[in-house]
Amino acid sequence: MEKKYSNPCSRCGTERIMLRTWTEKTENSTIVNREMICPNPKCQQEVIKDNKIQADKYSSWKRRGKERAVERKRVLQEIRKKKKK
Ligand SMILES: [Zn+2]
Repeated sequence: MEKKYSNPCSRCGTERIMLRTWTEKTENSTIVNREMICPNPKCQQEVIKDNKIQADKYSSWKRRGKERAVERKRVLQEIRKKKKK
């Protein structure tokens, strides 16, 4: 029995509609990708905007994390140097 594929819009809760499907071939399988959008174009615009904000937040958070890791390494190296003396 096939379960109905439910994917409601995160903003308005309306069942999303399929915009397009495409397949991606990997080494041992084929993945079917689905792009789902909200049937309300205005709402979909907002969803895209939200997603972009989230992606920006995530990438800046990741960048900060990397900078912190570099800083931590530098501090540790300095501590080690001091201990040697
Ligand atoms: Zn919506």
